[in-house]
Amino acid sequence: MEKFIMAIDQGTTSTRAILFDHERNVVAMSQKETTLFYPQPGWVEQDANDIYLSTLAVCMDVISKAKISPKQIASIGISNQRETTIIWDKETGLPIYHAIVWQSKQTDGICDEWKEKGYESIISKKTGMRIDPYFSASKIVWILNHVEGAKEKAKKGGLLFGTVDSWLVWKLTGQQVHITDVSNASRTLLFNIETCTWDDELLELFDIPKAILPEIKATSCHYGNTSPYLFLNEEIPICAVVGDQQAALFGQGCYEMGSVKNTYGTGGFMLMNTGDKIVRSNSGLVSTVAWKIGDKITYALEGSIFVSGSLIKWLRDELKIINSASQTEQMALSVDSCNGLYIVPAFVGLGAPYWNDKCRASIVGLTFGTNKNHLVRAALEAMAFQSKDVLEAMVEDSGVAISSIKVDGGAAANNFLLQFQSDILMCDIERYKINELTALGAAYLAGLSCSYWTYDDLKMDLDRVFKPSRSKENIDKIYGGWKKAVHACMEF
Ligand code: ADP
Repeated sequence: MEKFIMAIDQGTTSTRAILFDHERNVVAMSQKETTLFYPQPGWVEQDANDIYLSTLAVCMDVISKAKISPKQIASIGISNQRETTIIWDKETGLPIYHAIVWQSKQTDGICDEWKEKGYESIISKKTGMRIDPYFSASKIVWILNHVEGAKEKAKKGGLLFGTVDSWLVWKLTGQQVHITDVSNASRTLLFNIETCTWDDELLELFDIPKAILPEIKATSCHYGNTSPYLFLNEEIPICAVVGDQQAALFGQGCYEMGSVKNTYGTGGFMLMNTGDKIVRSNSGLVSTVAWKIGDKITYALEGSIFVSGSLIKWLRDELKIINSASQTEQMALSVDSCNGLYIVPAFVGLGAPYWNDKCRASIVGLTFGTNKNHLVRAALEAMAFQSKDVLEAMVEDSGVAISSIKVDGGAAANNFLLQFQSDILMCDIERYKINELTALGAAYLAGLSCSYWTYDDLKMDLDRVFKPSRSKENIDKIYGGWKKAVHACMEF
């Protein structure tokens, strides 16, 4: 009987289930949108039950589309949107508040208070992160303070906290297993990256009861089985849980220290595998856990860019100068250059390496000769310039010279973008034939754990390598202009 690995990719805007066969072909895929709520400016929330029900729906759908029996699923791997915070009642299983999404800024007051109290250095030393509403800790504090009686109930052990991975495993196992993995735990601001445990001193500082936290496990291991009530009496082993960006790093085959991947999705995320070393950043990056396999822990340096492909979405949905994202490639190629036009996409401030949450997006260098092709080209170039800013920080922090980068995400389909990226980074850009690398990473980690695959099985076919083709003078000139545009934007 042929067996498959089922990857669940629970993202911010949709949930997908993908079945992979042993040759890593996508046998079937199912996707369901999830709803985002914006109750106040800057707030982003989701219904945790919607996240779970969409997961269950796509799992059932993918099994039925592939016309297989649940018995044929060797194991499940879960990759998930990170940092998003859920707190639920241990007895009833009901969330006590919406999931607060990673993008949400509703906890900036709590973060400002922590900064004023001088917590920045202890937090960054212990967690490798920085104080920012992006990470989970302030979201936990916010829910415990805003929901009546929550704090007392949490102290008595009546509530549980989880990022999306914990919530899904808890629900899928019939409310039996409360775990997270190191890659997700490292995004909470409660996880000590040196000891790889919850940090008691930080818990006390934030006044978060330890009883609500899940048990921290490896990224690739058997956590439990799905409840027999879900998949026709079949108890399917769950064998991997991993944050989406770390999943893509693994899916891209970045197992070696110094290897780098860049994802061009809604946001942009560049990660470098730093092996068993925690590389501390002086340049605005964060030190995160990549994964733990067996007893071996692997770390990564990460630069998170808040707006990448969503800039193209804005050109389509708000400016309406394009009908589809794929059109942008031809439009950008129809002009020789941007003629000094720059877009700085600081719609929600700037993430790595600037971390400026006050500035807003700007367009500079407009002339009467500027047309929509220039605007489109400037948007794609901005995506590449932002990645160059992060890569420069990565080289500075790690001391590693980078000669090639693996790319994925929706906008990695754009050949103009990748050629321009290669030119300005002066390094090779490699794109694989499979673009589902987040799901594939989770599938690989699950498949390794249940002995469905070995490392030798995980090789992939390259689709295309983009090679640098511009002079250094030209790059210095256009990148210099970008830097000026960013500084003008931050000073405005
Ligand atoms: P996520 O998983 O973060 O939701 P995806 O990896 O699916 O996002 O990427 C979608 C983003 O990529 C969208 O914001 C879209 O505007 C952009 N995008 C998709 N195709 C292209 C393209 N050919 N050129 C440029 N941008 C694109």
